[in-house]
Amino acid sequence: MKIIAIGRNYAEHIAELNNERPSEPVVFLKPDTAVLRNNAPFYHPDFSKDIHYEVEVLLKISKEGKHIEKKFAHKYYDEIGIGIDFTARDLQQRCKEKGLPWEIAKAFNGSAPISEFKAKNAYNLNELNFSLTQNDELKQKGNTNMMLFSFDEIIAHISKYFTLKKGDVIFTGTPAGVGKINIGDKLVAYLENEKLLEVEVK
Ligand code: ZN
Repeated sequence: MKIIAIGRNYAEHIAELNNERPSEPVVFLKPDTAVLRNNAPFYHPDFSKDIHYEVEVLLKISKEGKHIEKKFAHKYYDEIGIGIDFTARDLQQRCKEKGLPWEIAKAFNGSAPISEFKAKNAYNLNELNFSLTQNDELKQKGNTNMMLFSFDEIIAHISKYFTLKKGDVIFTGTPAGVGKINIGDKLVAYLENEKLLEVEVK
């Protein structure tokens, strides 16, 4: 499986990092070695002093497709979940300044904790609340009605470049409130009011 992630999809998060508002989705990948499942702990690597949490809604691809039209995109995912896009902000900043790719800052081992997946029919995808706490303190709170690009627009866009395969996971962008993690932290992510993911930082 592969992970395809969207950057800069929530206006307030773009503002907090002083980034430009994109005219089309910003896309990057994470390899399967980035995935953490079943609430596995995250071991803080020593190459970064500033790893941030970014809570994001996940889509799980249910059948293979490429060049998917927006109006058919909903047929390609049946389940949603919640994940954290761990980002080494210090490395990312250095890459950005030099105009280099971000992979070392975004795709390292364990950088993609993902929850179990839930049938999408149980939710209103256009008004979906999600949030993240760090040591029981609310840090991020988002609603999919604030996305610049909808789930279906994201699928239409990325499937122009990458064939989507069953089991692939899409990270759909983070709202405002990203921040640094520390060893000993407990991060918990919620979809609506349900706790779906818990990650201990070791
Ligand atoms: Zn992200």
